[in-house]
Amino acid sequence: MEKIELEDEQDIQDILSKYGDKSGFPFDNKTGLFLDESTPGANDGILAKSKEIWENKYDEKMKSLKNENKAKKAADSATSAVINKPYRNFSDNIDAYKVAEALGVRICAYCNENYTYVLRLKSKKITRPEFDHFETKKRHPEKQLFLKNLVPSCHVCNSNVKGSIDFGDGKHLNPYEYSFDDIMKFSIQLQSIDWKDEKNFKIVFLPRKKRSKLNCLAKGNIEDLKLEERYQMHKDEVIKIFTNANFYYKERREEINELLTGNRNRVLPLGQILFPDKDCSIKNTSLGKLKRDIIRLAVK
Ligand SMILES: [Zn+2]
Repeated sequence: MEKIELEDEQDIQDILSKYGDKSGFPFDNKTGLFLDESTPGANDGILAKSKEIWENKYDEKMKSLKNENKAKKAADSATSAVINKPYRNFSDNIDAYKVAEALGVRICAYCNENYTYVLRLKSKKITRPEFDHFETKKRHPEKQLFLKNLVPSCHVCNSNVKGSIDFGDGKHLNPYEYSFDDIMKFSIQLQSIDWKDEKNFKIVFLPRKKRSKLNCLAKGNIEDLKLEERYQMHKDEVIKIFTNANFYYKERREEINELLTGNRNRVLPLGQILFPDKDCSIKNTSLGKLKRDIIRLAVK
């Protein structure tokens, strides 16, 4: 939910370039960009090859199946197998772990909910983030290995929720370009005074400023990643914070601190103990943004 900072961009791009070259996919070594269909010569590469496969498969399947829909489906899957080969080769290789490590995103860049750390034991691959194609491979095969199109994310965001939704429509926020945290904050919508009961409140997102374009992009992510619905699963965290804030209100914290230290003006260690996530790094803390925003709301 914070912007992904690229410290070793050239190193990462060098790793990704290896897969562009070998695949025969139209690729410009100098710029590090894939070429699209309109580039002269591009059709001599994999796009033309996949078209040929598509046509052969289609004819073949039509003869055996006599069912146009089934034939089209089979041909489509054969085409995408060819078109997506560069990414698949990368994804199966240890290099995908190296890129994820270089990005250093420990918590999903989209949701800040699930861990996406990289774990390798000697040469054994254990776990790494999935790479969501911000602009889908289907619509933009030429961007399948473009760094800023590979968002390190959790399985829920990438596969369960976003799936084949294309975010390259100008209605979504790319974590490589913007910090969602700067644009939206968590808040609470109370339906009754009794906040101790989960049924009586809702966790909501509020824009920090009146910036219609950025707010719209962030809302696109909230909607299509089902963030508001998913965060209702974390009401227990909100109740814990409000319970502490309610019992240990400012004057009581000061009294306890005075008893402990004899000095009312000292920085309260008790506050840090009760609300350790007040200034947490949300990049490194699961649900860090929710906890930090709600602490700021609840603790006076
Ligand atoms: Zn996620």
